[in-house]
Amino acid sequence: MRKYEEFNKLYFDNQLPHDINVGWNELEKNMYATLAVNIWTTEADGLEHRVLEIHLDPRRHYGPEQYLATLLHEMIHLKLLPYRFHGKRFKNERRLLMLKGAFDDLL
Ligand SMILES: [Zn+2]
Repeated sequence: MRKYEEFNKLYFDNQLPHDINVGWNELEKNMYATLAVNIWTTEADGLEHRVLEIHLDPRRHYGPEQYLATLLHEMIHLKLLPYRFHGKRFKNERRLLMLKGAFDDLL
C-alpha cells in the first residue's frame, strides 16, 4: 500500500521496515487490523528470514479516513516492537504523530 511508505517518510523518518506487506484481509470478529511478524532461521544456510504483514479488515472500515487511521495505529505498534501494548509508550508515540499532523486530514 503506497500510503504506508508515504506515512513512513512523513511521520517515522523512514525508519520502519520496507519489506512489509500491507493489504486487506477478513479477520476474526472484533478485529480491525493485525500486525503479524514471523521470523525464522533456515537450517540449511543459517540465514534469518522474516515476513511482516499488516492486514486491515475491509468489513470494518468505511472510508479512507478510517482505514488510514488504523494503518497509522499499526505502524506505531511496528515502531514499538517488541512492546505490544496500548500503554504510555504507545500513547506517547500517538501524541507525537498527532503533533506532526498525521491525523489532520483524517478527522
Ligand atoms: Zn493496537
